[in-house]
Amino acid sequence: MKTKKKIIRNNEKGIQKYRFLIQSAFALLCIWIGIDFYLFVHYLESGGSAAFYRRPPGVDGFLPISSFMSFYVFLSTGKIDPAHPAGMFIFLAIVLVSLVFGKSFCSWLCPVGFISELIGDFGEKIFKRKFTPPKWIDYFLRSLKYILLGLLFYAVFFLMGEATVNAFLNSPYNQVADIKMFYFFADISRFALIVIGLLFVLSVFIRNFWCRYLCPYGALLGLVSLFSPNKIKRNPVSCIDCGLCAKACPASLKVDKVKTVWSDECTSCMSCVDACPVADTLDLKSLYTKKKISKKAVAIGVVSIFMAVTGIAIITGHWQNDITRKEYLIHYKMMDTYTHPTGGAAIKEFKKETEESSSSLNKTSFLKNEADRNKAKQVLR
Ligand code: SF4
Ligand code: SF4
Repeated sequence: MKTKKKIIRNNEKGIQKYRFLIQSAFALLCIWIGIDFYLFVHYLESGGSAAFYRRPPGVDGFLPISSFMSFYVFLSTGKIDPAHPAGMFIFLAIVLVSLVFGKSFCSWLCPVGFISELIGDFGEKIFKRKFTPPKWIDYFLRSLKYILLGLLFYAVFFLMGEATVNAFLNSPYNQVADIKMFYFFADISRFALIVIGLLFVLSVFIRNFWCRYLCPYGALLGLVSLFSPNKIKRNPVSCIDCGLCAKACPASLKVDKVKTVWSDECTSCMSCVDACPVADTLDLKSLYTKKKISKKAVAIGVVSIFMAVTGIAIITGHWQNDITRKEYLIHYKMMDTYTHPTGGAAIKEFKKETEESSSSLNKTSFLKNEADRNKAKQVLR
């Protein structure tokens, strides 16, 4: 006969309210950056006659590929990309946060993750249930984000290499990549709008559709998180097998069936810990010291690491870029002629060009035709 376990109730307060507040604060910060950037672009559109607004460096956080390349060049040469220095530090902060607290950036700070979560909550409210695709479809879809990440790694490390990545970072295309991104959304194409709409609808039915299946950033952080020394641990002795933790998990992990959650999908959101009704049964713990890490410490830790790394960038003068107002106005006029190599053949050609040419050509080799290249060389001289 099974003996009933003596239960000591978990009276610890939940952390989800604070997680929501931190996510909201971060989303508001992003909106603020967006408004500042709009005013900066408006200044450029006016040809310099409107009031000047300084470009907010935080916008670099929305250039993950450029930031990733910049991090690669920093690791290889110690140089920081002067066009988007903040991006490199934001990238470093996000990777560090994931190394310490798992994929926590996704559930505590990322504005896209936050919106995804809100859409998922809305879907669950309407349909009163969670939809999960069959396992084989789920595994197949989850592999997509790793394929996208793999392609990026292949292009950066194998097709380009350090010198070509450096040339790309110095190119005018990279210097105005943030402005180009702004116009991608401001003048959004019908196709892009349909894709975003589709992702929205899919996220109503399948929680975190974008994050779970398509985000290459999430894939990278998921891989980094596997090396995190802090994991969700279940005590099978005091566990009463109620399954509430698994039910609460937004990543649909079988928390109630394992002793340690080793998953690239765990975002350290602490929903399972909040849901567990038994004291000291489910916690985030250090694998080395075996000590429990409180939910508050996770909240404070995630925000502090992010603030500390970006704070170092500000204090050491690596936050603002070195592109002058005048240079921006010139770039803005020529921006439509700037392109970047797409596809393996174009990347190889660019690599060949950068290996053979002088640095002034590197800066202009993204331009579409000879006349534009000559014009740009004059400007950049
Ligand atoms: S296992 Fe727990 S901490 Fe990890 S995603 Fe699921 S609910 Fe969040
Ligand atoms: S919530 Fe999970 S860990 Fe806690 S008692 Fe229930 S099954 Fe066990």
